[in-house]
Amino acid sequence: MRFTVLGSSGTYPTPTNPASSYLVRTEHSAIWCDAGPGAFQALAAVIDPAVLDAVLVSHRHPDHCVDVFAAFHALAYRPDPVHGIPFFAHPSVIDHLTGFLDAGRDHLIHTVFDFRPVEAGVDISVGDVAIRPVRMDHSVPTFGFGFEWQGRRLFYTADTGPNGSWIDDVGQPDLLVSEASFQGDSGGNGYTQHLTAAQAGEIASRVGATRLLLTHIPPHLDPRRSVREAETGFGRTVMAAVPGATHEV
Ligand SMILES: [Zn+2]
Ligand SMILES: [Zn+2]
Repeated sequence: MRFTVLGSSGTYPTPTNPASSYLVRTEHSAIWCDAGPGAFQALAAVIDPAVLDAVLVSHRHPDHCVDVFAAFHALAYRPDPVHGIPFFAHPSVIDHLTGFLDAGRDHLIHTVFDFRPVEAGVDISVGDVAIRPVRMDHSVPTFGFGFEWQGRRLFYTADTGPNGSWIDDVGQPDLLVSEASFQGDSGGNGYTQHLTAAQAGEIASRVGATRLLLTHIPPHLDPRRSVREAETGFGRTVMAAVPGATHEV
């Protein structure tokens, strides 16, 4: 299983890094996971979007989903339109995205995407990949996703704070892709539904992750400091997600 970072910039994109977006690929499956601003261009640079087997969106915050509209236009208005790409998300994501377009049942977006509401703990199957949605600790309904392929495991936290039972559902991933929106103890500034880098490291250690990849680091923070703070809790080398990098799982 290959995990490619399309964008890792926390909450907003930079000229060289889209906001949250990833591509999970195996020999038989290609899954686009989150679609932050700038992500569609990065996606189209590495794969023909027409061959996607599924789209997954973690939650309805714009830094994770606005490029769904770019994908919709690209797939709908190409000379050979693409239909029926399975689109998995919490019902509130589907309602907000289609609401933005005033899209009734006859709208073209329902032809391009086959919207499939997701429930926590009910596994999704895409080709040879099993995906487990896990309810996270965030200000709107948010799913983290566990990916399993041939016994290999990857878990993506999306946006989350440290509370709730989600940590029990992470499993023991070969690669934990964790958000790390804060440094130091800045998670205590009243905006707590995100993780500090130190918390990401401690959680990676608790769940027995083999590797930890930090993402969703805001552009105004130095990722080297985030990595150092996460390594303290994890006790192993930590990586920061950079666009274009592919991690074998
Ligand atoms: Zn976010
Ligand atoms: Zn969010």
